[in-house]
Amino acid sequence: MQISVDYARCEGHGLCADQAPDVFGLDDDAELIYRFDGAEVPDEHRSAARAAVTVCPVAALRVLP
Ligand code: SF4
Repeated sequence: MQISVDYARCEGHGLCADQAPDVFGLDDDAELIYRFDGAEVPDEHRSAARAAVTVCPVAALRVLP
């Protein structure tokens, strides 16, 4: 499972980081940090990562098929 991140769309709400802190975070400037950019999300984080995708209010996150 991979997630695509539309960094231009992201508004730094941080809800994804609340849902999946091992997958997403925000830096000091409220810029999104995605820890598995270009890589597979490890199995143990997939459930939380899916929840994060669902909760993003601006649809900046998408699960790739
Ligand atoms: S929830 Fe969406 S808008 Fe908010 S930081 Fe995460 S990706 Fe960005």
